[in-house]
Amino acid sequence: MHPPELRDRAIAMHADGVPFRLIWRTLGLPPRTVGNWLYGERARKRRERQPDDRCPRCADPRRPPDAPAAYAYLLGQYLGDGHIVRARRTVLLAVSCDNRYPGIIAEVDAAMRSCGARSVHHRAKIGCTAVSALWNHWPCLFPQHGPGHKHERPIELADWQEPIVGEHAEPFVRGLIHSDGCRFDNRVTVRGRTYSYPRYMFTNESAHIMDLCRRSLDRLGVEWRMSRRNTLSVAKRASVLRLDGFVGAKS
Ligand SMILES: [Zn+2]
Repeated sequence: MHPPELRDRAIAMHADGVPFRLIWRTLGLPPRTVGNWLYGERARKRRERQPDDRCPRCADPRRPPDAPAAYAYLLGQYLGDGHIVRARRTVLLAVSCDNRYPGIIAEVDAAMRSCGARSVHHRAKIGCTAVSALWNHWPCLFPQHGPGHKHERPIELADWQEPIVGEHAEPFVRGLIHSDGCRFDNRVTVRGRTYSYPRYMFTNESAHIMDLCRRSLDRLGVEWRMSRRNTLSVAKRASVLRLDGFVGAKS
C-alpha cells in the first residue's frame, strides 16, 4: 500500500492541472495506481461519500469543529488572506503567508490539519508561501466562500460560527493580525532620547471583516481606533499589552 500522502499529492497535482503522465513519473508510481486514485471507482465513491465524518458539518449528528481554537485561528487567516478554489474534482483552501515568518507558516499548517486536512502542501512563490490543503469540505467549514473578492460581498458569520468566534476571540484575532496586521514600534525622539511605543495595526478592505475584528477586540477589552477607513490601530499601552499576551510580533 502507498502512503496516503502520495495519493493526496497526486490529487493535488491533478487539481493543479499537471498532466497525468507527469504525475505518475514524478511520484515514481505505476500509472495504473495513480489512474485508480484519480479516476477509479473508489475515487468516485470517495467524492460522493456523504457524510464525511471528518467534516463536523456533514457528520451525523453535526458537531462543532473538533479543535475550535485552531478553527478560530484558521478562520481569521482565511478571512484575512485565504481563498477557497473549487478545482474539477476537489476543493483547495490556500492561505498566502509571508516567507519572513516561518512560525506563522507552521501555525497555519497545523491549524489546517487540526480542522480535518489529511495533508498540507507548501508552495514557494516570490516572497511568500502558499500553504494549502485539498478537501471537499472546506466550504462547509468556511461558508463565507463565494465568487469574487471578499470585500465586494457581504461576509457574515453563520449561526454555528458565532459562539466559536465568541469563545475563541483570542485565536481569531491572532489569525486576523497574522494575515492582515502587524505589531510595530513607533519611535519618537524627544531631546535626544528615543522612546518606543509599540502598536498594532490591522488592515482589511472589507467593512464586514473589519467589523468582526472590532467586535472581537471589544469582547477582549482591547481599545482600538480607526486610523484610516480600512485600517484599525491599537495604541493604548494596556491594550497593546493585552494583545502582546496572545499575538505579539510575527515570527
Ligand atoms: Zn462537509
